[in-house]
Amino acid sequence: MCKCGIKFSGLSFTGAGLDHFTEFIAVTVGLRIGAEITEAHRCHCGTTVYRQGRHGLSCRRSAGRQARHASINDVIRRALATVNVPATLEPNGIARDDGKRPDGMTLIPWSRGRPLVWDATCVDTLAASHVTATSREAGAAAANAETNKRRKYECLGQDFIFLPFGVETLGPWGPSAKVLFKDLSQRLVDKSNDPRAGAYLGQRISLAIQRGNAASVIGTLPAASDLDLIFYL
Ligand SMILES: [Zn+2]
Repeated sequence: MCKCGIKFSGLSFTGAGLDHFTEFIAVTVGLRIGAEITEAHRCHCGTTVYRQGRHGLSCRRSAGRQARHASINDVIRRALATVNVPATLEPNGIARDDGKRPDGMTLIPWSRGRPLVWDATCVDTLAASHVTATSREAGAAAANAETNKRRKYECLGQDFIFLPFGVETLGPWGPSAKVLFKDLSQRLVDKSNDPRAGAYLGQRISLAIQRGNAASVIGTLPAASDLDLIFYL
């Protein structure tokens, strides 16, 4: 039931979950407008999930979180391949001081003779730790996440072009993500002679985020057999 009084009906989640595009849209729209999309229940992490279902967007144990991250990186890698810049995910040979590897690296120079190294992160706009900043400035959480990433990857030095790719669950992108997107979009346009190629890339990334959001919400649920008792949709 939406706050405006409109009840979502005719849609129900089954074990097939996100296979149904309409269900994905329903969850996405429900999150956007703040509708009550689920009964209150307990997440796998033990936290209570309230009717708006938002807890899954930031829960580290939600099954959809990794899928969202992987999907964003795959879109970037495939876009790079389209412009003849092969890239590898989680490259060997470069790592932070704590041993963690970045999400991706181009296998040939990206600019000024240096390969591109990127690391993507999707932070929840509405998470308790972010909402104070994001309520004042759109994209504040993504920008902060990018700053943190830059700090963690300072060890890479000048041998690489490092660009964090920070986005938020409700849409805003960080400044570094916009830089990479703008550059990559122009190369896609030049390669395809299609002026809409950049817009298509933006749509693919946005869809990856929204699909991941829906998967994250569903990832807080108990066994599939109980879903009909929980979801209104
Ligand atoms: Zn949780």
